[in-house]
Amino acid sequence: MSIPLLRLLNANIRQQTSRCGSYKVTCAKVCAHANSRRCLLSNSSAADVSLDALYRIFTIPEAPDSTLGRIERHLSENLAGFLSDHIVAKEKPLHEIEEDFADSEIPEQPTFVSEHTDELLNKLVAHSVHTASPRFIGHMTSALPYFLLPLAKLMVGLNQNLVKIETSKAFTPLERQVLGMMHHLVYGEQEKFYQHWMHSAEHSLGAFCSGGTVANITALWVARNKLFAAQPGFAGVATEGLAAGLQHYGYKKACVMVSERGHYSLSKAADVLGIGRANLVAIATDKNNRMDIEALRKGCQQIADEGGRVMALVGIAGTTETGHIDPLEKMADVAAEIGAHFHVDAAWGGATLLSSTHRGLLQGIERADSVTIDAHKQMYVPMGAGMVLFRDPALVHAIEHHAEYVIRRGSKDLGSHTMEGSRPGMAMLVYSALHVMGRRGYQLLIDQSIDKAQAFSALIHQQPDFEVVTEPELCLLTYRYVPADIKEVLANANEEQMNRITPILNQLTKHVQKSQRESGNAFVSRTKLTPHQYFHQPSTVFRTVLANPLTTMQMLSEILEEQREIGENAPHTLHALYAEARDCGLLSG
Ligand SMILES: *Cc1c(COP(=O)(O)O)cnc(C)c1O
Repeated sequence: MSIPLLRLLNANIRQQTSRCGSYKVTCAKVCAHANSRRCLLSNSSAADVSLDALYRIFTIPEAPDSTLGRIERHLSENLAGFLSDHIVAKEKPLHEIEEDFADSEIPEQPTFVSEHTDELLNKLVAHSVHTASPRFIGHMTSALPYFLLPLAKLMVGLNQNLVKIETSKAFTPLERQVLGMMHHLVYGEQEKFYQHWMHSAEHSLGAFCSGGTVANITALWVARNKLFAAQPGFAGVATEGLAAGLQHYGYKKACVMVSERGHYSLSKAADVLGIGRANLVAIATDKNNRMDIEALRKGCQQIADEGGRVMALVGIAGTTETGHIDPLEKMADVAAEIGAHFHVDAAWGGATLLSSTHRGLLQGIERADSVTIDAHKQMYVPMGAGMVLFRDPALVHAIEHHAEYVIRRGSKDLGSHTMEGSRPGMAMLVYSALHVMGRRGYQLLIDQSIDKAQAFSALIHQQPDFEVVTEPELCLLTYRYVPADIKEVLANANEEQMNRITPILNQLTKHVQKSQRESGNAFVSRTKLTPHQYFHQPSTVFRTVLANPLTTMQMLSEILEEQREIGENAPHTLHALYAEARDCGLLSG
């Protein structure tokens, strides 16, 4: 009790002695415990909330030497330095952090901005995740280029609302242009096409949204409304609902097909659209984690036999777990044959289209009816920049919505074609990133990520005690640690032996991953796969995404070194591993 109070007092004293335009309203807690001199500064004994102070937080910026002023300077001069200075490397247990966020009451009394900022630094920033670190290679979130920080501040300062022109003006044409540029990247239509459609009130080349989840939902929303369109005697699913739609068209169910590597956002989509999660059908993958086309055909046939209707096929361009790309061209063929909507979830992998070296990997994406791309993944833009693109600019008619006071018929308001309402001007950051880095800049970034993933894979192959589980097709790969002598005999293990060893190796992988994360030196993530080479046993693996351009091979080598050290020092698990290996005849004696 006494330490936080002391800090509070110190912060207040510092505050009052510094030149400051901040929110000077003295805290009642301080008044209660400290001498009365401090209370004088609040200018009154009871009314410690003053309109005057409130006016000031709207009009006067924080002084340069205030806590916030110093933070701003530090952030703009040296973001990386700021993050490494303020984020604590060693992990604090979540339950301890929760104690810092346990108060359910809204504070009655205002707080000085600087005092509050100090609190944020200690409680929040210190225990956030250093996603920009070049050793943070476990997830799709990575470093941002510096110029986006002040631009993000500008965006927040302008506080435009993209739902309608009346609150966004130039931001609306900008967003339409960004969608046009991304549409062009995917579909490569002629200039005439974009001149005609890009700014057309009744059409949209896509929809900007908070992320891949909303993009996928929007795409399947379009597919659903298109399939259950209005006809004589039926006003359409948007009006009458899915039950009436199924009945009108005589389908028992509507299904969406995706490989077993499909992102969970699709299951949310099936849920909110009334399709039902059970009708999101997971199709088996081949040994390279790509949709098995024969299994897809069989699945579609089965649904037809059951009186159902395939509403959409979803191809994945860069699966979340292994980074692989489905055979999009072949899926497009199947979709055409059965008359289903073809959607490509390229939330993560779509940025590969910016590289002429590698865009061929996504061959067939241009035949998709809709495509999801997240700019906040491989396009190095802050979170909240998802997009869905539509090959046919009239597709959005299926989800069009109008109201009287905004998004009126004939207006160019973007809100008539988006699921979300009020939306920030994130498109500006995508626009800036595309201009500042240019396609060729992106190509360099993407190419070096893929090269690095291949080099990392080669490095892992050289280790006697690590094995690559899935090779990188883009910049994502999975691997695991296996003590050298076990690895050697495991290569010839039969199914039963593999079944017995795998759960212990899973424990080991999990232990190494957790310990490494807790040490705070580096972070790789983990997931569970069913690799064909391990007889489809559920196997825990390390997962790395090598998108940060500042990650070096030296760092990757050190990450392996640390993992090896942790693995070698897990006597309990190793003991169990060797005992089991002897017991099932993999090792003699
Ligand atoms: C990240 C991702 C999503 C979800 O996107 P959010 O931006 O997290 O909503 C969907 N699909 C794939 C393949 C992804 O990688």
